[in-house]
Amino acid sequence: MSAPPGLFAQELERLDVPGLSAAAVETSPAAVDGALARLAVGDGAARGPAGLADLATLLAPAAGSRLEEIAAAARAVTLRRFGRAVRLFAPLYVSNACLSSCAYCGFAKGLDVVRRTLTPAEVVDEAAILADRGFRHLLLVSGEHRLEVSPDYLVEVVGRLGPHFPAIAIETQTFSDDTYGRLVAAGLEGVVHYQETYDRSRYSEVHVAGWKRDFDRRLSSFERAAEAGVRRLGLGALLGLATDWRADVLALAAHADFLARRYWRTEVAVALPRLKPSASGFPPVVDVDDAAFVQALAALRLFAPDVGIVLSTREPAALRDGLVQIAVTTMSAGSSTEPGGYTTPGQAQEQFSISDERSPDQIAAMLRANGYEPVWKDAFPLVDA
Ligand code: SF4
Repeated sequence: MSAPPGLFAQELERLDVPGLSAAAVETSPAAVDGALARLAVGDGAARGPAGLADLATLLAPAAGSRLEEIAAAARAVTLRRFGRAVRLFAPLYVSNACLSSCAYCGFAKGLDVVRRTLTPAEVVDEAAILADRGFRHLLLVSGEHRLEVSPDYLVEVVGRLGPHFPAIAIETQTFSDDTYGRLVAAGLEGVVHYQETYDRSRYSEVHVAGWKRDFDRRLSSFERAAEAGVRRLGLGALLGLATDWRADVLALAAHADFLARRYWRTEVAVALPRLKPSASGFPPVVDVDDAAFVQALAALRLFAPDVGIVLSTREPAALRDGLVQIAVTTMSAGSSTEPGGYTTPGQAQEQFSISDERSPDQIAAMLRANGYEPVWKDAFPLVDA
């Protein structure tokens, strides 16, 4: 049985995001002028439905020719709100076992890949390597296997790592019982759950079986996590999954805005991973090229000036180096996407291939060379590898 719609699901219905996206395709240059002028103020006052319409305008093809102006405005807002600090984190894959079948994922149930679930002691060994590299922010990642990666397992892992890592987040299955509260009590700080696509019909096409197939259960998970005391929320949409990728960016922005307003004690961060090759062989249904990707992240920054933006090693080095000077506030570095990938690489299937293979030290050096301070211990991890 599917979960009932949560609070944001009801708001999403009212917003008519597909309608906003469709209307923006006809955007005129004059409309781009107006939207840019309003959002470039960067005080967050232009949120809500009117702000969302302006965001749709800045995402439109007609705004593509204004990319330099949009990026410059985003850079100014990012510097004003976040300064020159960029948080670094590392994903730690604890398991690639999964009982869900998502058409685009290399961990999907039924795929003939080498599976591995780390013991809590093995997780501690992996974490020790990341600690040696300087990380104090950890993102524990797993497939959705409620037996191999059970609530008890996660509580034990978080409890063991807690004394050594001030910021621990999970990117695992969603929970509908008291698990978020138990994890917070064990030392959990953040939860990352990507909705992947906010288009219900496309969602059910690509989420073939398993818990993740329940759109509403997933969409309302942040509401349960925040009410259980989780302090940091990371959300995202997977570009390339739905044809109308602009609608997914709009819905993601609306979701982040909703969470930041309703749960004002939490910090919210967003990510827009682009679909990468994996063992699934799933091809993107739309190509979001680099220019459109930069436009989307810059426009998101203007719409939501206080929301963190996370960029993963999925993206190539040169693009990451540029985006950190426009909108990005958190980066992963030196990532492995296979369980045990830091201590014993090559013994299990990775989730997807990464593009930026530089070491954490090299990423830190790049940041310093560009006048930014790499932050290893401060708050604010959140996201995908
Ligand atoms: S996306 Fe997550 S739930 Fe879906 S198959 Fe991959 S690991 Fe499993």
